[in-house]
Amino acid sequence: MPEHFKTLKLKISSEEKKARLEDYKWAMENNLYFGPPVDINVFLSRDIYDEYVLLKCLDCGFEEKTEFDIVEEMWDEYESDYPILHCPRCGKPKSVPIDIYHKQKLKVFK
Ligand SMILES: [Zn+2]
Repeated sequence: MPEHFKTLKLKISSEEKKARLEDYKWAMENNLYFGPPVDINVFLSRDIYDEYVLLKCLDCGFEEKTEFDIVEEMWDEYESDYPILHCPRCGKPKSVPIDIYHKQKLKVFK
C-alpha cells in the first residue's frame, strides 16, 4: 500500500477466477508453479481483489484505471513519491495517481 496516494481494490469476476484457476492447473502440470499448493475449493469460495490505481494525465486530463502491479513495475520509488507514467492519449509522461493530480492542480489556487 503506497503512502502518498490511494489504490482501489476491486473484486474479480467469477470468469476471471476460473481463468486464474486454469492458469494455476496448467502451471502445476507443467511444473511452472513454485508457490504453496492452493486449495481449489477455498480459492473458488473466497472473494479475491485486484488492486488498481486511478491515473490522470496532468496535461490532457485523460483518466485510466491501471493495475497496481503494473504501475509498481514502472515506478522507481527512490526517484519519486509517486509513479509518473506515459499518458495513453497524449503520449506525454504526465499520467499520475488521481490524488497527486488534485494536489498539483490545486497549487494553482494557492
Ligand atoms: Zn494526456
